[in-house]
Amino acid sequence: MLIGGEWRRAAAGEEIEVVNPATEDVVGSVPSGGARDVELAVETAKRAFPEWSATDVEHRAGILAKAAALIEERGKDLAATLTSEQGKPILEARGEVTHLAHGVRFYAEAATKVRGAYQELPSAFGPAYGMVIRRPMGVCAAITPYNFPLTLLGTKVAPALASGNTVVAKPASTTPLATLEVARIFAEAGVPDGVLNVVTGRGAEIGDALVGHPDVRRIAFTGETGTGRHIMSIAGPQLKRVTLELGGSDPVIVCADADVDAAVKAVIIGRYWNAGQACLGCKRVFVHDSVYDAFVGQLVERVGRYEPGDGTVRAEKPKLRMGPIHTRKARDELLAQLEDGVARGGEVLIGGGTGGHDKGFFLEPAVVAEPGVDSRLVREEVFGPVLPVFRFSDFDEAIRRANDTPYGLGSSIWTHDARLIHRAAQEIDAGMTWVNQIHYGYDELPFGGVKDSGFGKEHGIEALDSYVEVKSIVVGGLG
Ligand code: NAD
Repeated sequence: MLIGGEWRRAAAGEEIEVVNPATEDVVGSVPSGGARDVELAVETAKRAFPEWSATDVEHRAGILAKAAALIEERGKDLAATLTSEQGKPILEARGEVTHLAHGVRFYAEAATKVRGAYQELPSAFGPAYGMVIRRPMGVCAAITPYNFPLTLLGTKVAPALASGNTVVAKPASTTPLATLEVARIFAEAGVPDGVLNVVTGRGAEIGDALVGHPDVRRIAFTGETGTGRHIMSIAGPQLKRVTLELGGSDPVIVCADADVDAAVKAVIIGRYWNAGQACLGCKRVFVHDSVYDAFVGQLVERVGRYEPGDGTVRAEKPKLRMGPIHTRKARDELLAQLEDGVARGGEVLIGGGTGGHDKGFFLEPAVVAEPGVDSRLVREEVFGPVLPVFRFSDFDEAIRRANDTPYGLGSSIWTHDARLIHRAAQEIDAGMTWVNQIHYGYDELPFGGVKDSGFGKEHGIEALDSYVEVKSIVVGGLG
């Protein structure tokens, strides 16, 4: 792990092996941190804060821009590490690295453009005016999941550092390697020792120490809703600033006038990219009766092109590579959800097998027609390549069913009818609605959920506001 510019072992001396989910080979090992390591990392970040927060913003932005350039330059190596620990195909890993560099550069530029407010004020003490200033918060924790370890690191670390905070990052215990490489790059780009620290280890062993540490003022968490609730139960009583980017079950509404071909292509990416292990994704598709057969026919045909396998090896054309599910436990959970969907009336149109691999945690991408509304495929987040599809004939019913979920992260609608677009934008309870577009988290737009998908925003210029304390200043004695 990286603390204060030093590469350290865990205080307890233990290590965790990192396993390639496609081959089950051990590809590395990292220190298994504990409370003592967290204590040291937070103390170090706290000590580094005064000097870093006093640097001028152009200086911080310059370092981040350099880091972004180095990330791009080392893209090939970073992607190879990411594939080996996470499982995603190399092409997708390259995409994630590119997105990381874009996000880091976005905040390098955005931080230099933040402006404040000036307000003339009435006062019995003579002329006065008010200013609104923004002060960095101090030590921020950045806790990331296994599905997009790099982009989700960037969405936390870049706005935090650009705003003058220091960071203790904690990657998922199964995907720490690429994160450590990125931390090395930040150091090489000029981030001073102690400003960005990385503690590796299991969430259950170090999470509470990090979240509960009194000197950690800001927690940015991405992960499961259950973990988010637990974090909130510790951070809440201490009144810490928290953003929770949690699970999702995004609805897609395909209307009668939809461009079916485009909708199918987007849904394929939205559900099967990263082997379906995405928070944003097309997780429940509602298709108008009049285009249902055309949509489902094309969908099943295209899903059949996927070939699950080792992400380092390209599939032979016209097949497309899909990586493994990240862990055996997660794959088995998907099989149980699928089985429940079938038991509750769903029909598997394609996929759902484990593909006859000797090693690795594979699942053949599946489409399931009409599982019951009480099935796990509908009620729960499905974190893998399994897509339930449903018919609808009445738009009110489609909106009602889209909202009939505990989650509220993304959503999309496929139509050119402005009235329906307006209704989807106004009536779907979600943090985002895409119109005739794929579910994609743009760096330029605020992103985050409602309901059990959490609260607070990452991405966008808005995210910078969540790394500062807004303070009002009243100035008098002017004449
Ligand atoms: P997870 O909740 O199991 O783990 C996320 C991180 O939290 C890991 O680093 C883990 O070690 C850590 N952690 C675990 N216990 C902790 C504790 N007690 N205290 C502090 N940290 C702890 O999530 P996961 O399985 O790695 O990721 C998948 C989940 O993430 C899915 O539910 C997915 O929808 C969600 N996700 C959400 C977004 C979003 O932006 N909304 C993006 C990606 C993933």
